[in-house]
Amino acid sequence: MIPEPYKSIVNKRYELILKDEIDNEKLKNYFDKCFEDICSHYGLHACWICVNCMKSETLTYGWGEKPSPCPKCSQNATYSIATFQSWASKTGDMFEWAFYKLFREISELKIRSMPRQTKTHDFEITNKIAIEAKGSAEYIKNPDGTKYDLDIPGMKRSDTEKKAFSNGEKYKSLHPSNKFYIVTNAIPKGLTIKGRAVDGFFNVAKKKELDRLLEECIKYQGKTLDSF
Ligand SMILES: [Zn+2]
Repeated sequence: MIPEPYKSIVNKRYELILKDEIDNEKLKNYFDKCFEDICSHYGLHACWICVNCMKSETLTYGWGEKPSPCPKCSQNATYSIATFQSWASKTGDMFEWAFYKLFREISELKIRSMPRQTKTHDFEITNKIAIEAKGSAEYIKNPDGTKYDLDIPGMKRSDTEKKAFSNGEKYKSLHPSNKFYIVTNAIPKGLTIKGRAVDGFFNVAKKKELDRLLEECIKYQGKTLDSF
């Protein structure tokens, strides 16, 4: 079950963008639009305000990167509003559900979303494959149409990469013969699974890698559990 507001977003975006044809451009667009929608829903735009102006009951504020000094009072008292603290978690959740929706549309294999207490992975495909979703937005779109770039989306953020691989280690220590896959929308150059407890990572915003994931899942699928 996809929770709201994620469910309405993925249903709408899948229908509009991917329903008839899936290619690289459309896949990227699907994830990007889902990210834009979730940020818009929660008001998670990039914006700033001048606290000095606010003291004198003047509001000086804007979208995007904060100017310094303040264009009105010339004091260095402009601050970014801390929406960035929610960007990773909300767009991370959005990526999870966008991937889940996509997988269910294009594959016959059963995919199960894991309960919150499962910390190592987000989904299981049959009883043999665990999938950890690690995607996030590449930019934040503001209501004035400007884009605020986030330079380390998905697996490009080293903390995210470390977390994903350590989840793989935990999972594989309990289920050594099962597969552990990471799905994302951004992979840093040079990332390798060599010597690490992960069986593969896939940039599912690319058609070829999405197809490769499906092939692997078909190859290694186990028993479909009744509870799926
Ligand atoms: Zn000011």
